[in-house]
Amino acid sequence: TFRAIRVSKGEAGPKADFVNLTEADLMEGDVTVAVDYSTVNYKDGLALTGKAPIIRSFPLIPGIDFSGKVEKSSHAGFKPGDRVVLNGYGVGEGHNGGYAQKARVKGDWLVKLPDAISNERAMAIGTAGYTSMLCVLALEKNGVTPDKGDVLVTGAAGGVGSVAIALLSKLGYRVIASTGRASEADYLKSLGASDIIDRNELSAPGKPIGKERWAGAVDAVGSHTLANVLAMTKYGGAVAACGLAQGMDLPASVAPFILRGVTLAGIDSVMAPMEKRVEAYKRLATDLDMKKLDAMSFRAKLDDVPKLAEEIIAGHVRGRAIVDVNA
Ligand code: NAP
Repeated sequence: TFRAIRVSKGEAGPKADFVNLTEADLMEGDVTVAVDYSTVNYKDGLALTGKAPIIRSFPLIPGIDFSGKVEKSSHAGFKPGDRVVLNGYGVGEGHNGGYAQKARVKGDWLVKLPDAISNERAMAIGTAGYTSMLCVLALEKNGVTPDKGDVLVTGAAGGVGSVAIALLSKLGYRVIASTGRASEADYLKSLGASDIIDRNELSAPGKPIGKERWAGAVDAVGSHTLANVLAMTKYGGAVAACGLAQGMDLPASVAPFILRGVTLAGIDSVMAPMEKRVEAYKRLATDLDMKKLDAMSFRAKLDDVPKLAEEIIAGHVRGRAIVDVNA
């Protein structure tokens, strides 16, 4: 048997229990993985608290990502012992996920980890950090280079934000971090932020177009924040939108697009094609300062997951949780 968190449909929303399962409880797949680590992303928080209908099939093992070692495989690309990471593909939503000591998934969903990224660090990165990398790739693709001007990161002290700051600063960008937690200023500066701004500056309804303040941005927040970020993006700049921590709405105008040629790049990690994932992990291996990653991550156990889920939704988690599912 192996240990797992399993969510069933309760009367007042999803109900999470710690259970012992056997391989017969796992779903279809051609690769069985001995899970080492998982993590707690914002989406995991939404799933476990029931704040959004993330889980589509009950009962289900939640956890949208994991790292581990291949135990059994009938997939041509994987053999026992391979170190792998899984992000998204509906795992932890419609297919059993990472909050378990074992997982059975499609090999087509797995990425082999580069030597430079340990299984533990793969979950310090997690879906949040891999999404940050996708955002940075989108800025690059849209011509936002360090010489074009500052870049803004919203939701700075969260998972996506923390990794984005570390990546962008190592790549030579001057980073402005927007946070609601002034107490985290030293932390954000240690990750590489040059300036800190209060997120209240961006979160209220603003003008359709404003002073040009940044050449690009990574936005994990959405809503009025994203609208204001667009309105203050420099001529020809780009904004990578990946999150909805403030809201799913986008009360914006077309002014930044038609007057300044600003690009809004949408980022999805869940169904991102395999070649993009491989590129993202290759770049994380070279462009993420592992010392900074270690400084923004903390250790947790499977037992801590329900509490961390509440905390991440309340906006109280700093950086990234590494959940040791065997601890
Ligand atoms: P997280 O660690 O909770 O970070 C979110 C941060 O947003 C918080 O730390 C907080 O930063 C800020 N925030 C929270 N509530 C806010 C509010 N009401 N107004 C303004 N800012 C607020 O979560 P995460 O795992 O990094 O994920 C961040 C976002 O990206 C989530 O919306 C998540 O769903 C999304 N996401 C999307 C994808 C994708 O594929 N598109 C993948 C991963 C994540 P401060 O305390 O610094 O202000």
